[in-house]
Amino acid sequence: MKNRWIESDAAKHARDELVGLRVYSSLLLGQESDLVLHGGGNTSVKAEMRNVFGDSESVLLVKGSGWDLRTIEAAGFPPVKLETLLKLGEIEQLSDVEMMRQLRLALLDPTAPTPSVEAILHALIPHKYVDHSHADAVVALSNTPNGAAILGEIYGEQVLILPYVMPGFILARQVAQASKDLDWSSIRGIILLHHGIFTFADDAKTSYDNMIELVSKAEDYLEQTCAGKSADNKGAALPSQNYQPTAQDCLQLSELRREAGASYGGPVLLRLECSSAAVAFAQLENCHELLSRGPLTPDHSLHTKPFAAVFAEDPIAGLREFEHNYQQYFVQHSREFHHCLDRMPRYGVWRNKGMVYLAANQKKLQIVQDISQHTIKAIQWGEDLGGWQALPRQDLFDVEYWELEQAKLKSATAVAEFEGKVVVISGAASGIGKACVEAFVRKGAVVLALDIAAGFETEFDSPAVLAVHCDVTDSGAIELALQQALINFGGIDVLVSNAGSFPESQRLDSLQDSNWARSLELNLSSHMKLMRASLPYLKNGFDPAIVIIASKNVPAPGPGAAAYSVAKAGLTQMARVAALELGESGIRVNVLHPNAVYDTAIWTDEVLASRAEHYQLSVEQYKTANVLKTEVKSADVAAAVVIFAGCSLAKTTGAQLPIDGGNDRVI
Ligand SMILES: [Zn+2]
Repeated sequence: MKNRWIESDAAKHARDELVGLRVYSSLLLGQESDLVLHGGGNTSVKAEMRNVFGDSESVLLVKGSGWDLRTIEAAGFPPVKLETLLKLGEIEQLSDVEMMRQLRLALLDPTAPTPSVEAILHALIPHKYVDHSHADAVVALSNTPNGAAILGEIYGEQVLILPYVMPGFILARQVAQASKDLDWSSIRGIILLHHGIFTFADDAKTSYDNMIELVSKAEDYLEQTCAGKSADNKGAALPSQNYQPTAQDCLQLSELRREAGASYGGPVLLRLECSSAAVAFAQLENCHELLSRGPLTPDHSLHTKPFAAVFAEDPIAGLREFEHNYQQYFVQHSREFHHCLDRMPRYGVWRNKGMVYLAANQKKLQIVQDISQHTIKAIQWGEDLGGWQALPRQDLFDVEYWELEQAKLKSATAVAEFEGKVVVISGAASGIGKACVEAFVRKGAVVLALDIAAGFETEFDSPAVLAVHCDVTDSGAIELALQQALINFGGIDVLVSNAGSFPESQRLDSLQDSNWARSLELNLSSHMKLMRASLPYLKNGFDPAIVIIASKNVPAPGPGAAAYSVAKAGLTQMARVAALELGESGIRVNVLHPNAVYDTAIWTDEVLASRAEHYQLSVEQYKTANVLKTEVKSADVAAAVVIFAGCSLAKTTGAQLPIDGGNDRVI
């Protein structure tokens, strides 16, 4: 493992004398996904601070809940009175809920985030700096038949190795007892089997160096012991091809997502990973059995549940089997006060095809995917070392149903309206389409954004947007683009059919065939093709809806715009037929008629000025030439699209709504 410490960077951070170097080396740990993942691990520094009376107080500045080592700042280290923490470490018994209450009471700043659940443990270690990670290599070694012995052999006397206990107060007590007569200067770290590793020192760099050095030793051991052996491991490390999902796979994914959402109790996202590593694992004969043995560390079960699902020819049968197994696991390990959580798997293997991930939103989906990737790698090390061996299920259950975690779930904030939903938007590079992408992402959706504009894929920097270059007049291209939504998100719930363009104005006596044909192709036929290709997936969607962007020209056409008005009128008529046909599948279809939306790519300042001049108006007058004397913006149209796609108008289909500031010919 690379030591990322750079003296000049450290010097910059050191300007903040209190926590500067603490922040710096925490960020270094956070960069290494083999050390900590998504909020895992924690760090601290002991210091002196002055209180309001001017007295000096010893404090522990320890990572606060909700902070991630990858992005932590000084504000992520709440100051806790050290004396209180040490006293808490002497109590024989304390519930974790009471411990957390005491930690908050011991804060020097009542507005600071809640200190890490491991704060007492950090306090007990007498060194100024303490670093804690869940290093893959160390934890994976402990998940093998001779794990403790191997670790003992690797580290000798340098490291104190402790058996697994629950994190929180029990772990703090374990360390308090184990370290009673310990000469702290004789060791460089503590390994908690099946959990992680602590290192410490009186300066930030040595503590960090110790972490990197100790973890590197475990990595070196794995490399020497496992190198080459994997090839015999039933094909695990054999070079494997990426799998290319078929249209049939995509349809099955959308069916699986629908059933999984029913199990979860709301819309969920689903992803199929077909990388060579995922496919290689999915090709292992015993992959189903390996995944049933449990996660890398118990706290992963909070995100991934304690075991995985296995999908084969009929993925829904695999889902049902998981639900059954999870129910049994709950019955076996729960006590009367527990309530069973949802029974939806969070990850699974689809035989010969890859890994499947499920979660309520994009962020959680990414966490599940990352954890799964690290788990699969560790499982294969474990197999090379005599057999992957996770903790007994009761230990996993105790973490999954830990009262602190359950309390967090209960206090979770309200779910965004489109969380877990997948929206496809055409013409997404600019104007109304782009405004729709932004509006849906703000409301919690993930979006497949389609456009033909060169390089538009880089316009969006949100992980919730998958931008795919697509010519929507080409049925084949549409099919491939939609498959991206299926592979990455598992389905389609909303289609916003928006792509279009305003052709050059030509009166009927001089209308060119090409002008007419081009307008009909893009403004009418492409919408039919996109809708047709989306329907099999929309039918499996959650409260599915289609929103068509037509035009004011439908109810109020203008001279010189035959090619445009006829196409948009045909589009409206198609939407009406679609509303009739799709009602039985629960798909709503509604139409918007925007007018004079000038903040789009077509309306440059020059075009606006020349149009205004043509009507002998100022640009301002031209823009607001409507009943309400208001300017209609792309965002106004997007707001209406979101309403039509959401639950507010759940009982409306086949409707047409003007968004035009009021037009006297339409009214
Ligand atoms: Zn930990």
